[in-house]
Amino acid sequence: MSEELIFHVKPQMAANAHVTVTRLGLMQNHAMNNADAFWLEQARRLDWMRFPTVAGTGGFGGEGGGVQISWFGDGVLNASVNCLDRHLAERGDATALIWQGEREEQSETLSFRQLHERVCRLANVLKRNGVGRGDRVAVYLPMVADGVAAMLACARIGAVHVVMFAGFSSSGVASRIRDSGAKLLITADEGRRGGKTIPLKRMADAALAELGDAAPAVVLVARVTGSDVPMQAGRDHALEPLMADVSAECEPEPMGAEDPLLILYTSGSTGAPKGVLHTTGGYLLWASLTQEIVFDHRPGDVFWCTADLGWVTGHSYVVYGPLANGGATLLFEGTPSYPEPGRWWQVIDRHAVTGFYTAPTAIRALMRDDPAVVERASLRSLRVLGSVGEPINPEAWLWFYDKVGHRSCPVMDSWWQTETGGIMIAPLPGAVAQKPGSATLPLPGVRPLLVNEKGEELKGEAEGHLCIAGSWPGQARTLWGDHPRFEQTYFSTYPGLYFSGDGARRDADGYFWITGRVDDVINVSGHRIGSAEVESAFATHEAVGESAVIGVPDDLKGQSLAAFVVLRKGAGAETQELPAALSRHVGVQLGRYAAPDRVVLVPDLPKTRSGKVMRRILRKIATGEHEALGDVSTLADPGIVEQLVRAMEASA
Ligand code: ATP
Ligand code: MG
Repeated sequence: MSEELIFHVKPQMAANAHVTVTRLGLMQNHAMNNADAFWLEQARRLDWMRFPTVAGTGGFGGEGGGVQISWFGDGVLNASVNCLDRHLAERGDATALIWQGEREEQSETLSFRQLHERVCRLANVLKRNGVGRGDRVAVYLPMVADGVAAMLACARIGAVHVVMFAGFSSSGVASRIRDSGAKLLITADEGRRGGKTIPLKRMADAALAELGDAAPAVVLVARVTGSDVPMQAGRDHALEPLMADVSAECEPEPMGAEDPLLILYTSGSTGAPKGVLHTTGGYLLWASLTQEIVFDHRPGDVFWCTADLGWVTGHSYVVYGPLANGGATLLFEGTPSYPEPGRWWQVIDRHAVTGFYTAPTAIRALMRDDPAVVERASLRSLRVLGSVGEPINPEAWLWFYDKVGHRSCPVMDSWWQTETGGIMIAPLPGAVAQKPGSATLPLPGVRPLLVNEKGEELKGEAEGHLCIAGSWPGQARTLWGDHPRFEQTYFSTYPGLYFSGDGARRDADGYFWITGRVDDVINVSGHRIGSAEVESAFATHEAVGESAVIGVPDDLKGQSLAAFVVLRKGAGAETQELPAALSRHVGVQLGRYAAPDRVVLVPDLPKTRSGKVMRRILRKIATGEHEALGDVSTLADPGIVEQLVRAMEASA
């Protein structure tokens, strides 16, 4: 049904975007006919201390060989130089970073020059505290400018940043510090979120206590709320005085393209988080290139990616992508609806945001607000919208396009993963028509492939497991300290291919529709059903805000569908008939086989800290195994489990 809907490129975009239809064709041809030359040409977008002579080497193993991936191996560069120094001459006084505090009156604008100085000072502080090339630095900060500075300061001296979401509990922090072997921790006194303060330093202290001898020897504490927090003499230091005491210049460390830039733990939707390692040249190229071509970001623009710095989206599209391209990035400390609904729209208007990139979960939540809230805002500064993190249901896409983009901004539904470093499949604003719910087409040089369970390639219109044939520069190189797990997780299922773990369908136009995690595919009496498809059908019912669909074992059908549904605010009374009516609604949309046998109304869904539904937890709850939930360290609200168990029991 939704496949019929197509939104063509706007003439204005077609004429002015970085990538026009003609350029896209040229890029695709070049990538196909001479991949090495194509990638080396792309590498020119970065500032190198020594330009590479080789593009990609190594490979995905297959026939018994190990997985070794390398890009631009003999190139030398520094990521912070690419985000800062290279802009100083031409646009040193242009805005690099806008920080908007949770409190309206608190905001800060840093030019490239000012951010450069802050990064250099922090880099010098790190050096003074014994941090050097290859050392890991843990960053546990709220959404403040120091978070960006900390990442770039590490990059400047060749240290590897390990950023952790400020919402993690102390044990989440401890396990990541232990795994990465960080020798220094940068944290803050407190954070702010939704009108509350988060006792960051206290949680860091608990993490350090848990770590014992494995704890970093030095802790730098940034001032955010200014509250008094306990400081352990010899170990803890207030950051600001140290920064005032060092030089405002710091020579950038010349880094090999393959030297590690960062370790980042995945969201943990499908199991224990994985410590993904990205290297300097390829990752930076990918963040920079995709930022430009997908979001048409350029100097003078203000890009707002709402992801936390602690997720890969925050790394690539809050920090490296926007800054490498010389445009401004916006960092917002607060939440979408504090102190009142519509706060995000106010931020867009106040700072004249041009590109806005968020997640379906946020869009669905905002749709539940009173329509007047978004209508009150101007939003005229916006030029491009984006969505990432989960499949976006057409209903939410259309709302975003209509209410936020005023039908004049294209919506870039971008598919990618922590492991891919940056966007892989997405429309380009000036060159690719959009279909709501489809991530559309691969970027130039990216070769997605659908395979069946036997690993046979499926051509043309097909549905299967989404793999990538051949490496791309932004690809993760390993899982920190566990290369066998890296090979096992991504390269052993289909030898010779990178397996994403996601399922997808390709339509007659070659457009990709992500159907969800392969592990979430449900087989009802021989019908293979993707969770995303059923959830999209639910979303077309006026009472539904959000839903998650899973398969539960069924003697007769193999599996049957169970749905957990959150109702839209003000959707009217919850009647006894509603669950059955919702199920029928899905049956009408998709066919009777897809009508869930069980619909449970719940107050909320179990989500990761980055906003993704953890269906594995719902499966456990549905089968009564809620004592054995597995790794729940990234579950946003552990209290939800009990509520879900109760809702499940009540609906039986
Ligand atoms: P873990 O790997 O620890 O289980 P995770 O996969 O949720 O967690 P991320 O790397 O943050 O960790 O998320 C990547 C996943 O998010 C993708 O594999 C895909 O399932 C989903 N995803 C991201 N963008 C999109 C999109 N535009 N459409 C559909 N799904 C998406
Ligand atoms: Mg994953």
